[in-house]
Amino acid sequence: MNNIMNVPEIFGSDVFNEAVMKERLRPEIFNAWKQCIENSAPLELWVANEIAVAMKDWAIEKGATHYTHWFQPMTGITAEKHDSFIEPTSDGRVIMEFSGKSLVRGEPDASSFPSGGLRATFEARGYTAWDPTAFAFVKDGSLYIPTCFFSFTGAALDKKTPLLRSIDEVSREALRILRLFGDHETKRVVTCVGAEQEYFLLPKDMYAKREDLRLTGRTLFGALPPKGQELDDHYFGTIRTRVSNFMKDLDEQLWRLGILSKTKHNETAPCQHEIAPIYTDANSACDANQIIMMVMKKCAAKHNLVCLLHEKPFAGVNGSGKHNNWSLATDSGDNLFSPGKTPRQNARFLVFLAAFIKGVDEYQDFLRCTVASAGNDHRLGSHEAPPAIISIFLGDELNAVVNSIINGTNYTDPEKSVMRIGVDVLPAIPKDTTDRNRTSPLAFTGNKFEFRMLGSSQSIAGPNIALNTIMAEMLGEFADELEQAEDFDAALQKIVCRTFSQHQRIIFNGNGYSVKWTEEAARRGLSNYSSTAKCLPTYVSQKNIDLVTKHGIYTEDEFRARYEIHQDAYRKIINIEAKTCVDMTLHQILPAAMRYSRDLTKGILSKKELGLSYDAEMQIAQQLSRATDTLYQCCERLQRDLVHIPEDKESLVIYYREQIVADMDLLRAQADILESLTDKSYWPYPTYSDLLFY
Ligand code: ADP
Ligand code: MG
Repeated sequence: MNNIMNVPEIFGSDVFNEAVMKERLRPEIFNAWKQCIENSAPLELWVANEIAVAMKDWAIEKGATHYTHWFQPMTGITAEKHDSFIEPTSDGRVIMEFSGKSLVRGEPDASSFPSGGLRATFEARGYTAWDPTAFAFVKDGSLYIPTCFFSFTGAALDKKTPLLRSIDEVSREALRILRLFGDHETKRVVTCVGAEQEYFLLPKDMYAKREDLRLTGRTLFGALPPKGQELDDHYFGTIRTRVSNFMKDLDEQLWRLGILSKTKHNETAPCQHEIAPIYTDANSACDANQIIMMVMKKCAAKHNLVCLLHEKPFAGVNGSGKHNNWSLATDSGDNLFSPGKTPRQNARFLVFLAAFIKGVDEYQDFLRCTVASAGNDHRLGSHEAPPAIISIFLGDELNAVVNSIINGTNYTDPEKSVMRIGVDVLPAIPKDTTDRNRTSPLAFTGNKFEFRMLGSSQSIAGPNIALNTIMAEMLGEFADELEQAEDFDAALQKIVCRTFSQHQRIIFNGNGYSVKWTEEAARRGLSNYSSTAKCLPTYVSQKNIDLVTKHGIYTEDEFRARYEIHQDAYRKIINIEAKTCVDMTLHQILPAAMRYSRDLTKGILSKKELGLSYDAEMQIAQQLSRATDTLYQCCERLQRDLVHIPEDKESLVIYYREQIVADMDLLRAQADILESLTDKSYWPYPTYSDLLFY
């Protein structure tokens, strides 16, 4: 009996959601909160005060003693500082208090978060403000209040604020198009997002023995095991008990937190898994993905496992990504990327599709930059994740429709001459066949786009901000033209046909991993940035600055701050990795190889004395000596290059990419040779076989 989980009952039970608010707040307070959300208006203090008290009482019943303003600084993860509810009384006791002021605004004294120069040192404080569109929840004895994070001057210091701005902006521009189609009911257009999350699970004891995993989240060394993922026997395979216990526990915790955890399965690589919630609005989806990552880590520890979110924990084994499924829908749930059944719906769909195609083509670089990171550099363009070239996959049916519009033929009825948008019916576009191309970075999957370039550890805010902003810009452009048109249908036909023709180069339905595509993409003039170092400078191009400032997503300073933080993060990550490489080489790898070498030579000497043959020992000892010497040289070079760092920031990223990463690769190659030569009992940490096939 005890094992039965009542999912509907536990779902959302740790969330101060709308239902709880309705139950616990006086109607006038509840309505004031609703009004504030619908009109994006600030909450009055007396309303906040009552909500705060209700929230606190509810949280205490759930076992909370503390509250935290939970925010998403520009590091890509979340941050929290916990304060208890206690307030001293005059008679030396305490009561539990929480005011509207503490709910609405916090000051976490967050001077150590990266600000990209947005905070002058004299005013280093950052402030947090409750995002009343996201629900508070209780986790680990604290009431979590989702907040935006900004500076004294009001500059956004986080990922949530620009996301919220982009959500509003795409809604505003999409509504203009809907109005032209005669839709006067829709009040908001909602960005819908569902993020599939990949991760690795490792036994905690083995993880603890690897300094590289502990310090950098990935293995910096490790010879490839005799068996890899070639048998494909892990993908969708039976989930082992320890892992399935973890997953069960995880689901329960996520459900309690109101997260619609839906799918779980094994992934391609050994020890790799995936979790996907059902899609929601982008703001909730972004919070949810952060919560999922956070809860996965904690929950794994409980099961003596470690959850790795790094994009490439193991060389030679598939890395982890995140698929960001994105679409737009009206507030009544009408999906604007659904081809629809009537000519009118078809026409609306084609306008949104055209806007998307044009936007992605014109802002390829912007989109590419949002997924650039040191970790993701190991995936993009490495024949496992999508290539580093951005293109859109439409599937055969939709592609044929696009072609027929471009060529002025009629796809559904070859007898007729042109396809008249808004008059002719589109053919049915099957959902399942469109998903088969796994090599595409951006695939149309029936009624949404799946952006597959995200790294597993990245916040999904960045790419969604970019998608929303690009889309807002293009819809706005179309609306400008259509609003002026005398003949709406003719103008529509013209825009769609022109856009498809001019931006056809971004559509690619073939194999994205092939060398041919790289060549073809270059001929088409598509950008191909193989690394963070190469693409990052394009982030702050005038074109991108104009785009984000025009739509009020970022001020120029806010935007440049993000650029600086990306640059800085890249450099710091590689620096830590390089120093860890040196440390492990000098203190673990070389000593192990030397110990083995010493014992081997001792054996050779005694064998020699006894007149026994010692060919094998000698061969190994010789190879070992050579590899040890080379490894030492490689290590010296890396150490030297780590000292001679260029001064100016622009060349730093390139230097780390071209010098330090190359040094690390050479070092690793030698260390891995040593590993394969050395008796396993001498090796200082678990090998790939130990880690992947535990
Ligand atoms: P896959 O074949 O890639 O597993 P699914 O259809 O199962 O794809 O969906 C993957 C994710 O996409 C899920 O999170 C799902 O909820 C989400 N999703 C489905 N429809 C939409 C939509 N219209 N907009 C955004 N996300 C969606
Ligand atoms: Mg997917």
